[in-house]
Amino acid sequence: MQAATMQDEAIGHASTIPLMRAQLPDADALLPYLRRIDAARWYTNFGPLANELEQRLATQLDPGDSPAVVSLSSGTAALELALGAMQLPSGAQVLLPALTFVATATAVIRVGHMPLIADVAAGNWLLTPEIARRIATSRRIDAVMPVATFGLAQDITAWDRFVEDTGIPVLIDAAGAFGNQQAARRCHVAFSLHATKALAAGEGGFVVTRDRAMAARIRTLSNFGIDLEHGSQVFFPGGNGKLSEYHAAVALASLDQWPDIERSRRALQARYLRQLQRSCPGVVLQEQAVGGVYPILVVALPSGVHAREIQQELAARGIQTRQWYCPTLDRHPAFASFGAEPLPVAHSLSERLLGLPFYLDITTAQIRRVCESLAVVLAEAAGTIRPTSSHPAGTCHP
Ligand SMILES: *Cc1c(COP(=O)(O)O)cnc(C)c1O
Repeated sequence: MQAATMQDEAIGHASTIPLMRAQLPDADALLPYLRRIDAARWYTNFGPLANELEQRLATQLDPGDSPAVVSLSSGTAALELALGAMQLPSGAQVLLPALTFVATATAVIRVGHMPLIADVAAGNWLLTPEIARRIATSRRIDAVMPVATFGLAQDITAWDRFVEDTGIPVLIDAAGAFGNQQAARRCHVAFSLHATKALAAGEGGFVVTRDRAMAARIRTLSNFGIDLEHGSQVFFPGGNGKLSEYHAAVALASLDQWPDIERSRRALQARYLRQLQRSCPGVVLQEQAVGGVYPILVVALPSGVHAREIQQELAARGIQTRQWYCPTLDRHPAFASFGAEPLPVAHSLSERLLGLPFYLDITTAQIRRVCESLAVVLAEAAGTIRPTSSHPAGTCHP
C-alpha cells in the first residue's frame, strides 16, 4: 500500500491520503531485544525487558527524581488498575470530561464506580482544575480523571495543588501524551503504548506515580491480585494486565528511536500548522498545542460548519479524516445517565472537530493537498451554512 501511494504521488495521481499510518520499529530494530528474550527464555511476568522499560521510562520522565513506573498490557488496563489501586469506596463518583475517548469512562464503570461527566474549557478543550473545583462545590466527587486530550499536557502544578487543597485523588489519563505530559507529585498518570500513539509498542501502557505503595498495588492487581510479598495470597482480586516481554521489546526499540520520533513529530506539526495558516486561517486549534509531540492533528472548524459534512466532502476528494470524540461521552447509550452538568462547550466542539491526515511520512505535497482541499470545502460550506442546532444530536461518522 505504501509503494502504491508513493507511485501514485510520483505520477501525480490523486490517490487517497489516509488519516494515519502507524510506524513502529522494524524487524532489524527489534532483533537485539528478541535475541535477549530467546536467551533468557523469560516471556512475561515482570521480565528483564519490562523491568528495563520501566527504569528507562522513569529516568526519561524525571531524570533527577525518578517516579515509579508500572508497565501494563494497555492504556485501558493502566486506567482500570490505577483506579482499582486508588481504593476508592465502592460506587465512587469519578469526574471526567465529556470530550474524551470512551475508555476513560469504561474504565470507571468496569471497576465498579460511577462516571460524572463534566464539560471542558473552550480554549484548550480540557477538563481543567477550575472546572473540577467549580463542580466540587455543589457535588460529591471521590476522584477526578482529567484527560490530556489529543496529547495536550494537563497542568500538573495546578492539579497537584487541587489534590492538596481538596484531598480528592487525581488520575490523569495521558494515554496519547507521552513526550508532553510530565510526571506529577501527587497525581497518578496513565499512558498508552498503542500503535497509534507517539511512543508505540503495538499494545501496552504504564502508570507513573510517586506513591510507591500505589505502584506495588497496581503491579499486584496486574497479576490477578496475587500478593507475592504475603504468601501469594489474594486480598484484592485483580486481573491479567501484565506487559509481555515481546511488547516490552517493541517499546524499548521505540524508546531507542524516541529522539528521532520527537524531532520528526515536532517538525511535522510545525510544517502542518504553517500550511493550515496559509490555506485555512478560519480553523481553530487547541490552545497551547504548538510545539509538542502529537500523535494526531485535530482542528475545530468555524462555528456553523458541521464536521460530518466536511468529512464527506473531503472523502470524495480522496482525503480521509475523522470526527474525534463525536458523539461526546454523554451521548453514548452506556453513559447517558452520568452527566454532572450541561455540556455546551463539549457538544459544540464535538460537532466541529476534525482530525486531519497526520503521520510521520506524509509528504509536503500531501499536507498541501489536505489544507487546500479543506479550504475549498469550507468555502463551499460557507455558502450553505445552516445553524448547528438544525443537526440532530450525535450525528457522527464512525
Ligand atoms: C488511546 C487512549 C486510551 C486507550 O489506550 P489503549 O492503550 O488503547 O487501551 C484511553 N484514553 C485515551 C484518552 C486514549 O487516547
